[in-house]
Amino acid sequence: MLVLFDIDLTLITTGGAGIRAMTRAGERLFGPGFRADGISYAGRLDPLIMRDMLAQSGVEAGDATLARFRAEYAAELPTELARGGCRALPGVGTLLSSVERAGCFTMGLLTGNFAETGQAKLRACAIDPERFAVRAWGDESPRRPESRDQLPEVAMARHGARLGRAADPRHVVIIGDTEHDVRCARVNGCRSIAVATGRTSEADLARAGADVVLTDLSDTDRIVGLLRSWT
Ligand SMILES: [Mg+2]
Repeated sequence: MLVLFDIDLTLITTGGAGIRAMTRAGERLFGPGFRADGISYAGRLDPLIMRDMLAQSGVEAGDATLARFRAEYAAELPTELARGGCRALPGVGTLLSSVERAGCFTMGLLTGNFAETGQAKLRACAIDPERFAVRAWGDESPRRPESRDQLPEVAMARHGARLGRAADPRHVVIIGDTEHDVRCARVNGCRSIAVATGRTSEADLARAGADVVLTDLSDTDRIVGLLRSWT
């Protein structure tokens, strides 16, 4: 079974470092007319968040511009992460160790972050990104328009390559904190565990169609039991 974790507000909180770094990067590159306010972030892909910021700032979002924005964001992020407020969310350390120890699960990441910034966030919270054997990042949608809904197939293809056979979506669980995480599982035939450690309520996560909704990830035995029951 493949267990795919979202990063922000599922595994960790960075106290808003990501958004501050992205905003500073935009202001540095595009000047005082750059506007990051009013954008929806939760559960969305970083390239789409950046395109929205550029659009409302009147900057054309060509590939070269996005690449510069991404590089500047990655350069700003360590400073913001160092301000403090970075930590793993309740239960995460124990859960990851238990899932690893169980021996029957492959741990992975499915996230809207870019690889370099997602890994920097995890390291700032003392989680080694190398523990996750399968990773699908925010810029890896195979088709346009980009969507999180395309990332499970990326993760499953990588998992299948490791297994030497096609991955069965019923043996893939996506754990995340927003309705976007839940939907990307549902539309791909994967299972989902939604966790209300972000800004989405348990009721809204249930309405989005999550198989299971949890307050946080602290009930290790229950979560590992659920994962085992789905293998
Ligand atoms: Mg999240």
